[in-house]
Amino acid sequence: MRLSRAFLPTLKETPAEAQIASHRLMLRAGMIRQTSAGIYAWLPLGLRVLRRIEQIVREEQDRAGAQEMLMPTIQPAELWRESGRYDDYGKEMLRIRDRHDREMLYGPTNEEMVTDIFKAYARSYRDLPRILYHIQWKFRDEVRPRFGVMRGREFLMKDAYSFDLDREGAIRSYRAMMLAYMRTFQRMGLKAVPMAAETGPIGGDLSHEFIILAETGESAVFYDAGFETLDWEHTDYDYEDPQDLARFAGLLTSMYAATDEKHDPAAWEKVPPERRREGRGIEVGHIFYFGTKYSAAMGFTVAGPDGRPVTPEMGSYGIGVSRLVGAIIEANHDEAGIKWPDPVAPWPAAILNLKPGEAACDALCERLYAALGGEVVYDDRDERAGVKFADADLMGFPWQAIVGPRGAARGRVELKRRATGERQEVSLEDAVAKIRG
Ligand code: ATP
Ligand code: MG
Repeated sequence: MRLSRAFLPTLKETPAEAQIASHRLMLRAGMIRQTSAGIYAWLPLGLRVLRRIEQIVREEQDRAGAQEMLMPTIQPAELWRESGRYDDYGKEMLRIRDRHDREMLYGPTNEEMVTDIFKAYARSYRDLPRILYHIQWKFRDEVRPRFGVMRGREFLMKDAYSFDLDREGAIRSYRAMMLAYMRTFQRMGLKAVPMAAETGPIGGDLSHEFIILAETGESAVFYDAGFETLDWEHTDYDYEDPQDLARFAGLLTSMYAATDEKHDPAAWEKVPPERRREGRGIEVGHIFYFGTKYSAAMGFTVAGPDGRPVTPEMGSYGIGVSRLVGAIIEANHDEAGIKWPDPVAPWPAAILNLKPGEAACDALCERLYAALGGEVVYDDRDERAGVKFADADLMGFPWQAIVGPRGAARGRVELKRRATGERQEVSLEDAVAKIRG
């Protein structure tokens, strides 16, 4: 992407309305633009990050055996009357009437709809277990939308739903999702801690929130330092093996972790002092096991192995995909801007041509750009070097390949690592190899 032709608008001034770093940086880096309170347009830079996060979420859901589908954003009120939630949900639900005066709503979540769809096909115990998910926009008319995409009114969520024959199966599905979540967040370079949580309006008796540690988080958290060193991605836990899943869940629950709502001072006292960690956190995921709450209310049964009807046991599993963009920035930034972890970076590098129009600089930049297949940002603008450095730091590309007249004359590129500030002079070939990782 040549910056001279791109729509990557950065702002020099700090927007006054933004209270936290991620919101400020997303506006300044030209990732999003507010179109009404709590509703944002995603500009090219923001969209690329959103898509990369979405893709990691998708891959880990698929790996855990969940199947992707896509349900609509607009739902009929009828379905929510069946579960009894139409009145309970209150003002957070955006209610709409169509031209025939039918009551509709912009979905805040999809338990009712997925149950209605799945029950139309599932007939017997052989149709279970299944986990279905989609990645779709939700609307919740939050009283106080704030912090940009962290608490928006329209936001992108991955929501999965499990259907099992009995409680034991449902717990297995719950654990599989828990493992998928730990792997998902780790792949994004985040340390997430699962914490026992209240079940709220979704209902049910088992629930965990996944919290990313950040000073600007909305909840106070207490956890065992053991969570900081565990590697979930490279463990060989097998989703198909119930004993593996039980071993994994056992490890998680053997360590203390709770938000202030569920904090237990007596249990906290038993954690060795050097392993106690306190701070604030951002909720990026929330999972629930709620048994037959929706299946029973909506008359969903399948024929069990003995032919008698069984009401499936369900769970639901959310990840705030758009909130994650903000959460990742909260965990990875400095005064100058964003420092994208490689797996979610919008582009792996920016090439900074410090002297456009100078033959050696232009030639080296073009060769580098071509060698990287055009899959980087090439700052070919007629701008001062200082402006280019500032924009590259702000937009946070993991690498900056800086090309000035002196280096270019010798075929050398100065490579800067955004996360550490480390710089080294390298050949074009080495620059390509490093940027490609
Ligand atoms: P919160 O307590 O933050 O309002 P919630 O418990 O209402 O979240 P869930 O219904 O569990 O949220 O939704 C699943 C995930 O969707 C949350 O963990 C969060 O990451 C994300 N999410 C929820 N509400 C919003 C919002 N208003 N803006 C952005 N993301 C959201
Ligand atoms: Mg909420």
